[in-house]
Amino acid sequence: MRPVDKGESPYNTIKKYQDALPYLGEKIGYYCSYCEFPIKHVPEVEHVVSKSKGGDITDWMNLLLGCKYCNARKSANTTPENDDDFLWPDVNNTAIAYTYENGYPKVNEQLLMD
Ligand SMILES: [Zn+2]
Repeated sequence: MRPVDKGESPYNTIKKYQDALPYLGEKIGYYCSYCEFPIKHVPEVEHVVSKSKGGDITDWMNLLLGCKYCNARKSANTTPENDDDFLWPDVNNTAIAYTYENGYPKVNEQLLMD
């Protein structure tokens, strides 16, 4: 996954998380933060810590852009207790998750053992 640099929050408050969409698009482009594909249809404002598990609804630091597929696949599996178990493209160096052999990505098995 390519690293995502959102920078500082461009807003003080927003009323609903969907209002963050143009800010996210401007800061990181309309690409899925997970699969990196351009989002050609409906980009989804994605919550790093799921909103149903206590994640902040409108805090810039809890928001990314996701495609419909990745957002559904991630589902509501992240909580304030387990979000450190994952690599996040706006916080971690996600380039270490894969190695490339002959042009194909391969999961970095060493990373999974740490
Ligand atoms: Zn995606």
